[in-house]
Amino acid sequence: MSVDHNAAGPAGEPADQEQRRAELAESLRAVRARIDAACAAAGRGPGEVRLVAVTKTFPASDAALLTDLGMTDLAENRDQEAGPKAAEVAALRPEAPARWHMVGRLQRNKARSVVRWAHEVQSVDSPRLAEALAKAVRNAQDRGETSGPLDVLIQASLDSPDEAERRGGCPLPDLPALADLIARSGEQLRLRGVMAVAPLGQDPEPAFARLAEAHARVRRDHPDATELSAGMSGDLEQAVAHGSTCVRVGTALLGGRRLASP
Ligand SMILES: *Cc1c(COP(=O)(O)O)cnc(C)c1O
Repeated sequence: MSVDHNAAGPAGEPADQEQRRAELAESLRAVRARIDAACAAAGRGPGEVRLVAVTKTFPASDAALLTDLGMTDLAENRDQEAGPKAAEVAALRPEAPARWHMVGRLQRNKARSVVRWAHEVQSVDSPRLAEALAKAVRNAQDRGETSGPLDVLIQASLDSPDEAERRGGCPLPDLPALADLIARSGEQLRLRGVMAVAPLGQDPEPAFARLAEAHARVRRDHPDATELSAGMSGDLEQAVAHGSTCVRVGTALLGGRRLASP
């Protein structure tokens, strides 16, 4: 391979990078084996679940190595970190077909910045955020920076109302109305489905079951909203059992995060 491993700077010394590549290859194999086993257990095809690598707090060099290993979908949860990282990965691997997902809580005033790097925003949880994103995409379209709509998922809250306030997410009863609003911004936003994070410190199964029901309700009105993004390092098996089409995995792929990241 003719990739310049020094491009990442001191942390990207060839020997380090070779070792890290081997580590990531091993954990990627293990995560894919878990997904395949979960699909088999659920009687689903192995190709039905997409793996998204959550690279938050890890360097661009790791994201670049993941693209070498065949990963296309990469996710971040903070705009400030993601914009520069996506640019760095593009510089390190200009040929890699990286596709960036925003999965973190998003303030409306970041909409303009997020549409510069994100191909998909999985964390749309309010009409005001949807409107801000639609406006940011429209402005980018007017400037000729983008043509098509932005793929979005509605982040559904599986928490109690007070937790939802803190952690974000659209309350389940409000999902259909938000889906309708997004669908009306069709030139700017393409509703691809629903995303959620299981509640902290509880059995994720009942929450994923409620999510699957809410997703089915959205799909009745919006048949193209086929994506169900659920499952992380600790609960991807349960999510796949409840119909997840997209698991978002950080720790099990990249290791523990030293920095606390919401
Ligand atoms: C960090 C994060 C993940 C990945 O979590 P892990 O437990 O490290 O796999 C998935 N989804 C969201 C929204 C996240 O913020």
